[in-house]
Amino acid sequence: MATRDPYEVLGVPRDASADEIKSAYRRLARRYHPDVNPDDPQAEEKFKEIGGAYSVLSDPNRRAKFDRFGSTDEQPTDPFFGGGGAGGFTDLFEMFFGNMGQQGPSRAQGRNGEDVRVDIGLTLKEVITGAHKEVAVNRTALCNACNGHGTEGGKPPESCTTCKGSGMVSRIQNTFIGSVRTSTPCPTCRGEGTIIKDPCKVCKGMGTVMETARVNVTIPPGIETGQTIHMPGQGGEGVGMGRSGDLYVVLSVSDENRFERQGTTLYTWAPLTFAQASLGDTISIEGVDQDYDLEIPHGTQPGEQLVVKNGGLPPLHGGKRGDLIIQAAIQVPKKVSEAQEKLLREFAELGGEPMPKGNSKGILGNLFGKKK
Ligand SMILES: [Zn+2]
Ligand SMILES: [Zn+2]
Repeated sequence: MATRDPYEVLGVPRDASADEIKSAYRRLARRYHPDVNPDDPQAEEKFKEIGGAYSVLSDPNRRAKFDRFGSTDEQPTDPFFGGGGAGGFTDLFEMFFGNMGQQGPSRAQGRNGEDVRVDIGLTLKEVITGAHKEVAVNRTALCNACNGHGTEGGKPPESCTTCKGSGMVSRIQNTFIGSVRTSTPCPTCRGEGTIIKDPCKVCKGMGTVMETARVNVTIPPGIETGQTIHMPGQGGEGVGMGRSGDLYVVLSVSDENRFERQGTTLYTWAPLTFAQASLGDTISIEGVDQDYDLEIPHGTQPGEQLVVKNGGLPPLHGGKRGDLIIQAAIQVPKKVSEAQEKLLREFAELGGEPMPKGNSKGILGNLFGKKK
């Protein structure tokens, strides 16, 4: 009856987020799945325990109830325990024994499939066009050998005679206020409602096996790193009345750093010499899906923005592409020859600019002005 602290079972802190709980569960479930440990009955027990802990912590209501009453080791042994405000003893007992004491939902109710996450990388070019990708998804699937029943031969498991298939037994308890009727999970079938006398050898009676499925994912144009495609029902297969889990495809754009991205607009820098910026030029710029010939007007200033219309990215789900914006980065020579220096001074003189005194402390020991 006593179950261990579900936080302890999953190895997560009390303030763990839903995601942390889910990933801890997935990691453990994979490690202890009967498929992975075919000859280890302890692993199977552990697997069930993990499932039970997860069924508590993944359900906000059940988790809140557990948090409120502490570990299940503190289960009430007498009807005085924590009775106030719990809506009567029967409720309280059901709260503990009906929900907490059970290793997950009964077989009759079925078992929901798990949610699965996969990560997909795509290029900026694919952001423009959208993409179709096939991904490998590790998920549980109904065991073919037993059709998910968990029985050798695949017949539906026999109904438990103790509880007549309900999974719960009632008993009358005498308390100071009189007789109280309480329900607890059936000890014969451990709340499952059915009994498997001869478990399926393929799935060890679990009804499910792990499979690696190929799933086609359609990625719309305009995706950004961190966005997720939700594919309902593509996660682990549900058993019985349980529903299948969902697949979450998390996307990342591998070469996003080639540009600075702000929504549909892309930014980049074009290094220009002083001469190019002064006189004007045509340069080649590498865009996402093609190269562009970019006109540099004469007199272009540092940081000035030149626009390639529709050179950016489409909005999510497609549409008109944003712009590619190129900012002029004027390069100053780190070192000039004597002949260049002479011309620069002439240039300054012709423009009526102040004559530079020069500075010999440059990194490369520029000898500007030393000779005067
Ligand atoms: Zn039973
Ligand atoms: Zn099976």
